[in-house]
Amino acid sequence: MLDRFRLDGKVALVTGGNRGLGRAIGRALAEAGADVALMARDEERLRDAAREVGATGRRVLAIPGDVARREDAERAVARTVEELGGVHILVNNAGVNIRKPFLEYRDEEWEQVLAVNLRGVMFMSRACGPHLIRQRWGRIVNIGSTLSVVGNQERSIYAATKGAVLQLTRVLALEWAPHNVTVNCVCPGPIATEMTAPVQQNPETNKAFMDKTPLRRWGTPEDVAACVLFLSGEASGFVTGTALLVDGGWTAQ
Ligand code: NDP
Repeated sequence: MLDRFRLDGKVALVTGGNRGLGRAIGRALAEAGADVALMARDEERLRDAAREVGATGRRVLAIPGDVARREDAERAVARTVEELGGVHILVNNAGVNIRKPFLEYRDEEWEQVLAVNLRGVMFMSRACGPHLIRQRWGRIVNIGSTLSVVGNQERSIYAATKGAVLQLTRVLALEWAPHNVTVNCVCPGPIATEMTAPVQQNPETNKAFMDKTPLRRWGTPEDVAACVLFLSGEASGFVTGTALLVDGGWTAQ
Protein backbone atom coordinates (compact mmCIF):
# COMPACT_ATOMS: atom_id res chain seq x y z
CA MET A 1 0.00 0.00 0.00
CA LEU A 2 2.77 2.48 0.81
CA ASP A 3 3.98 2.13 -2.80
CA ARG A 4 0.83 3.94 -3.84
CA PHE A 5 2.19 7.07 -2.17
CA ARG A 6 5.50 6.90 -4.09
CA LEU A 7 6.08 9.20 -7.06
CA ASP A 8 9.08 7.54 -8.71
CA GLY A 9 9.26 8.35 -12.43
CA LYS A 10 6.92 11.31 -12.08
CA VAL A 11 7.68 14.99 -12.74
CA ALA A 12 5.95 17.69 -10.69
CA LEU A 13 5.71 21.43 -11.32
CA VAL A 14 5.01 23.53 -8.21
CA THR A 15 4.19 27.23 -8.53
CA GLY A 16 5.16 29.52 -5.68
CA GLY A 17 7.83 26.95 -4.90
CA ASN A 18 10.43 29.25 -3.38
CA ARG A 19 9.02 29.58 0.15
CA GLY A 20 6.13 28.70 2.46
CA LEU A 21 3.76 25.97 1.41
CA GLY A 22 5.21 25.59 -2.10
CA ARG A 23 8.69 24.90 -0.84
CA ALA A 24 7.44 22.25 1.62
CA ILE A 25 5.30 20.71 -1.14
CA GLY A 26 8.29 20.57 -3.49
CA ARG A 27 10.36 18.85 -0.83
CA ALA A 28 7.61 16.34 0.01
CA LEU A 29 7.08 15.38 -3.66
CA ALA A 30 10.84 14.98 -4.15
CA GLU A 31 11.12 12.86 -1.00
CA ALA A 32 8.45 10.62 -2.51
CA GLY A 33 10.59 10.19 -5.66
CA ALA A 34 9.40 12.87 -8.10
CA ASP A 35 11.66 15.19 -10.05
CA VAL A 36 10.47 18.70 -9.30
CA ALA A 37 10.31 22.05 -11.09
CA LEU A 38 9.81 25.06 -8.82
CA MET A 39 8.46 28.32 -10.26
CA ALA A 40 8.31 31.75 -8.57
CA ARG A 41 9.48 35.32 -9.16
CA ASP A 42 12.21 35.88 -6.54
CA GLU A 43 15.23 34.16 -8.06
CA GLU A 44 17.49 34.16 -5.03
CA ARG A 45 14.90 32.40 -2.90
CA LEU A 46 14.20 30.09 -5.80
CA ARG A 47 17.84 29.01 -5.97
CA ASP A 48 17.85 28.46 -2.22
CA ALA A 49 14.67 26.36 -2.36
CA ALA A 50 16.04 24.35 -5.30
CA ARG A 51 19.17 23.55 -3.27
CA GLU A 52 17.03 22.33 -0.37
CA VAL A 53 14.74 20.22 -2.55
CA GLY A 54 17.73 18.93 -4.51
CA ALA A 55 19.23 17.60 -1.26
CA THR A 56 16.66 14.77 -1.55
CA GLY A 57 18.72 13.45 -4.48
CA ARG A 58 16.02 14.14 -7.06
CA ARG A 59 16.45 16.39 -10.11
CA VAL A 60 15.24 19.93 -9.46
CA LEU A 61 14.64 22.76 -11.89
CA ALA A 62 14.29 26.39 -10.75
CA ILE A 63 12.13 28.40 -13.15
CA PRO A 64 11.85 32.14 -12.56
CA GLY A 65 8.46 33.37 -13.70
CA ASP A 66 5.15 35.04 -12.99
CA VAL A 67 2.06 32.80 -13.16
CA ALA A 68 -0.05 35.83 -14.04
CA ARG A 69 1.79 36.16 -17.38
CA ARG A 70 0.65 33.69 -20.00
CA GLU A 71 4.04 33.51 -21.70
CA ASP A 72 5.77 32.75 -18.38
CA ALA A 73 3.28 29.97 -17.63
CA GLU A 74 3.74 28.42 -21.06
CA ARG A 75 7.53 28.72 -20.83
CA ALA A 76 7.56 27.09 -17.37
CA VAL A 77 5.65 24.07 -18.64
CA ALA A 78 7.77 23.83 -21.81
CA ARG A 79 11.02 23.99 -19.81
CA THR A 80 9.78 21.34 -17.37
CA VAL A 81 8.92 18.99 -20.23
CA GLU A 82 12.19 19.66 -22.08
CA GLU A 83 14.54 19.51 -19.12
CA LEU A 84 12.85 16.95 -16.86
CA GLY A 85 11.34 14.78 -19.58
CA GLY A 86 7.63 15.44 -19.04
CA VAL A 87 5.06 16.74 -16.59
CA HIS A 88 2.65 14.60 -14.57
CA ILE A 89 1.72 16.67 -11.52
CA LEU A 90 0.88 20.38 -11.40
CA VAL A 91 0.52 22.07 -8.03
CA ASN A 92 -1.06 25.52 -8.44
CA ASN A 93 0.16 27.00 -5.17
CA ALA A 94 1.26 30.58 -6.01
CA GLY A 95 -1.01 33.08 -4.31
CA VAL A 96 -1.28 36.56 -2.83
CA ASN A 97 -3.59 38.23 -0.35
CA ILE A 98 -4.44 41.87 0.36
CA ARG A 99 -6.52 42.36 3.51
CA LYS A 100 -8.77 45.40 3.87
CA PRO A 101 -12.46 46.39 3.95
CA PHE A 102 -14.24 45.93 0.61
CA LEU A 103 -14.79 49.65 -0.02
CA GLU A 104 -11.09 50.45 0.38
CA TYR A 105 -9.69 48.25 -2.41
CA ARG A 106 -8.34 50.01 -5.46
CA ASP A 107 -9.03 48.55 -8.90
CA GLU A 108 -5.34 47.61 -9.26
CA GLU A 109 -5.53 45.53 -6.09
CA TRP A 110 -8.49 43.55 -7.40
CA GLU A 111 -6.60 43.09 -10.65
CA GLN A 112 -3.42 41.91 -8.93
CA VAL A 113 -5.07 39.29 -6.71
CA LEU A 114 -7.32 38.05 -9.52
CA ALA A 115 -4.35 37.83 -11.87
CA VAL A 116 -2.25 35.64 -9.58
CA ASN A 117 -4.82 33.58 -7.68
CA LEU A 118 -7.23 32.83 -10.52
CA ARG A 119 -5.81 33.71 -13.91
CA GLY A 120 -2.49 32.11 -12.88
CA VAL A 121 -4.25 28.82 -12.13
CA MET A 122 -5.98 29.04 -15.52
CA PHE A 123 -2.76 29.80 -17.45
CA MET A 124 -0.81 27.00 -15.74
CA SER A 125 -3.60 24.42 -16.08
CA ARG A 126 -4.13 25.32 -19.73
CA ALA A 127 -0.43 24.94 -20.49
CA CYS A 128 -0.15 21.59 -18.64
CA GLY A 129 -3.48 20.07 -19.63
CA PRO A 130 -2.54 18.83 -23.12
CA HIS A 131 0.47 16.93 -21.71
CA LEU A 132 -1.57 15.29 -18.95
CA ILE A 133 -4.38 14.36 -21.34
CA ARG A 134 -2.02 12.98 -24.00
CA GLN A 135 -0.28 10.65 -21.54
CA ARG A 136 -3.62 9.61 -19.96
CA TRP A 137 -2.26 10.26 -16.48
CA GLY A 138 -2.19 13.51 -14.58
CA ARG A 139 -2.74 15.19 -11.26
CA ILE A 140 -3.60 18.82 -10.70
CA VAL A 141 -3.68 19.98 -7.09
CA ASN A 142 -4.94 23.53 -6.64
CA ILE A 143 -4.27 25.30 -3.38
CA GLY A 144 -7.54 26.94 -2.33
CA SER A 145 -8.29 28.05 1.21
CA THR A 146 -10.92 27.74 3.92
CA LEU A 147 -12.06 30.93 2.17
CA SER A 148 -12.99 28.77 -0.83
CA VAL A 149 -15.93 27.61 1.30
CA VAL A 150 -16.53 30.13 4.11
CA GLY A 151 -16.08 33.91 4.47
CA ASN A 152 -14.04 36.17 6.71
CA GLN A 153 -13.94 39.95 7.01
CA GLU A 154 -11.46 42.04 5.03
CA ARG A 155 -10.74 39.29 2.55
CA SER A 156 -13.30 39.88 -0.19
CA ILE A 157 -10.98 39.64 -3.19
CA TYR A 158 -9.05 36.73 -1.80
CA ALA A 159 -12.20 34.77 -0.90
CA ALA A 160 -13.72 35.52 -4.32
CA THR A 161 -10.64 34.12 -6.07
CA LYS A 162 -10.30 31.09 -3.80
CA GLY A 163 -14.00 30.25 -4.21
CA ALA A 164 -13.47 30.45 -7.96
CA VAL A 165 -10.44 28.14 -7.75
CA LEU A 166 -12.60 25.47 -6.11
CA GLN A 167 -15.25 25.83 -8.82
CA LEU A 168 -12.61 25.64 -11.55
CA THR A 169 -11.29 22.49 -9.83
CA ARG A 170 -14.71 20.83 -10.02
CA VAL A 171 -15.31 21.66 -13.67
CA LEU A 172 -11.83 20.59 -14.83
CA ALA A 173 -12.21 17.38 -12.80
CA LEU A 174 -15.35 16.58 -14.80
CA GLU A 175 -13.88 17.57 -18.17
CA TRP A 176 -10.65 15.63 -17.70
CA ALA A 177 -11.89 12.55 -15.83
CA PRO A 178 -12.24 10.63 -19.14
CA HIS A 179 -8.50 11.18 -19.66
CA ASN A 180 -7.51 9.82 -16.23
CA VAL A 181 -6.48 13.28 -15.05
CA THR A 182 -7.64 14.10 -11.53
CA VAL A 183 -8.10 17.67 -10.33
CA ASN A 184 -8.47 18.41 -6.64
CA CYS A 185 -8.26 21.35 -4.29
CA VAL A 186 -6.40 21.43 -0.97
CA CYS A 187 -7.93 24.12 1.23
CA PRO A 188 -5.62 25.18 4.06
CA GLY A 189 -6.74 27.01 7.17
CA PRO A 190 -4.29 29.10 9.20
CA ILE A 191 -0.76 27.99 8.31
CA ALA A 192 2.32 29.71 9.69
CA THR A 193 4.07 31.27 6.68
CA GLU A 194 5.14 34.74 5.56
CA MET A 195 1.67 35.31 4.15
CA THR A 196 0.08 35.03 7.58
CA ALA A 197 2.91 36.71 9.55
CA PRO A 198 0.89 39.93 10.08
CA VAL A 199 -1.96 37.88 11.59
CA GLN A 200 0.37 35.81 13.76
CA GLN A 201 2.31 38.82 15.02
CA ASN A 202 -0.74 40.83 16.11
CA PRO A 203 -1.82 39.36 19.51
CA GLU A 204 -5.47 40.26 18.88
CA THR A 205 -5.78 38.64 15.45
CA ASN A 206 -3.61 35.73 16.54
CA LYS A 207 -5.98 35.01 19.44
CA ALA A 208 -9.04 35.41 17.18
CA PHE A 209 -7.56 32.87 14.76
CA MET A 210 -6.65 30.37 17.47
CA ASP A 211 -10.12 30.73 19.07
CA LYS A 212 -11.60 29.74 15.68
CA THR A 213 -9.26 26.74 15.25
CA PRO A 214 -10.42 23.70 17.25
CA LEU A 215 -6.93 22.12 17.16
CA ARG A 216 -5.64 25.36 18.78
CA ARG A 217 -2.45 25.76 16.80
CA TRP A 218 -1.18 27.18 13.52
CA GLY A 219 -0.77 24.54 10.86
CA THR A 220 2.66 23.90 9.36
CA PRO A 221 3.58 23.83 5.67
CA GLU A 222 4.24 20.10 6.16
CA ASP A 223 0.61 19.58 7.31
CA VAL A 224 -0.45 20.86 3.87
CA ALA A 225 2.35 19.14 1.92
CA ALA A 226 1.28 15.73 3.26
CA CYS A 227 -2.20 16.21 1.80
CA VAL A 228 -0.82 17.40 -1.54
CA LEU A 229 1.40 14.31 -1.62
CA PHE A 230 -1.66 12.08 -1.19
CA LEU A 231 -3.48 13.83 -4.04
CA SER A 232 -0.40 13.62 -6.32
CA GLY A 233 -0.03 9.86 -6.56
CA GLU A 234 -1.82 6.56 -7.18
CA ALA A 235 -3.14 6.54 -3.61
CA SER A 236 -5.77 9.12 -4.60
CA GLY A 237 -6.56 7.58 -8.00
CA PHE A 238 -10.34 7.51 -7.33
CA VAL A 239 -10.47 11.03 -5.84
CA THR A 240 -11.34 13.90 -8.15
CA GLY A 241 -13.18 17.21 -7.97
CA THR A 242 -12.93 17.34 -4.22
CA ALA A 243 -11.86 19.88 -1.60
CA LEU A 244 -9.61 18.59 1.17
CA LEU A 245 -9.83 21.01 4.10
CA VAL A 246 -6.58 21.17 6.09
CA ASP A 247 -7.77 23.68 8.64
CA GLY A 248 -7.52 22.30 12.18
CA GLY A 249 -11.30 22.00 12.22
CA TRP A 250 -12.04 25.67 11.32
CA THR A 251 -14.85 24.81 8.88
CA ALA A 252 -16.31 21.94 10.93
CA GLN A 253 -18.21 24.36 13.18
P1 NDP B 1 3.71 32.91 0.88
O1 NDP B 1 3.36 34.35 0.76
O2 NDP B 1 4.66 32.49 1.94
O3 NDP B 1 4.25 32.37 -0.52
C1 NDP B 1 3.58 32.69 -1.71
C2 NDP B 1 4.33 32.04 -2.85
O4 NDP B 1 3.69 32.38 -4.08
C3 NDP B 1 5.76 32.51 -2.96
O5 NDP B 1 6.54 31.43 -3.38
C4 NDP B 1 5.70 33.56 -4.04
O6 NDP B 1 6.97 33.73 -4.67
C5 NDP B 1 4.67 32.94 -4.97
N1 NDP B 1 4.03 33.90 -5.85
C6 NDP B 1 3.30 34.99 -5.53
N2 NDP B 1 2.91 35.63 -6.63
C7 NDP B 1 3.41 34.94 -7.69
C8 NDP B 1 3.36 35.11 -9.09
N3 NDP B 1 2.72 36.14 -9.64
N4 NDP B 1 3.98 34.20 -9.87
C9 NDP B 1 4.65 33.15 -9.34
N5 NDP B 1 4.73 32.94 -8.01
C10 NDP B 1 4.12 33.83 -7.20
O7 NDP B 1 2.32 32.17 1.03
P2 NDP B 1 1.92 30.70 1.53
O8 NDP B 1 3.04 29.75 1.32
O9 NDP B 1 1.31 30.85 2.86
O10 NDP B 1 0.73 30.41 0.52
C11 NDP B 1 0.81 29.47 -0.53
C12 NDP B 1 -0.60 29.24 -1.06
O11 NDP B 1 -1.43 28.77 -0.01
C13 NDP B 1 -1.28 30.50 -1.59
O12 NDP B 1 -2.07 30.18 -2.71
C14 NDP B 1 -2.17 30.92 -0.43
O13 NDP B 1 -3.27 31.68 -0.86
C15 NDP B 1 -2.58 29.55 0.09
N6 NDP B 1 -3.06 29.56 1.46
C16 NDP B 1 -2.23 29.90 2.50
C17 NDP B 1 -2.73 29.89 3.80
C18 NDP B 1 -1.89 30.25 4.98
O14 NDP B 1 -2.45 30.32 6.08
N7 NDP B 1 -0.61 30.44 4.85
C19 NDP B 1 -4.13 29.54 4.08
C20 NDP B 1 -4.90 29.20 2.92
C21 NDP B 1 -4.37 29.21 1.67
P3 NDP B 1 7.44 35.12 -5.36
O15 NDP B 1 6.81 36.22 -4.55
O16 NDP B 1 8.92 35.08 -5.31
O17 NDP B 1 6.92 35.06 -6.75
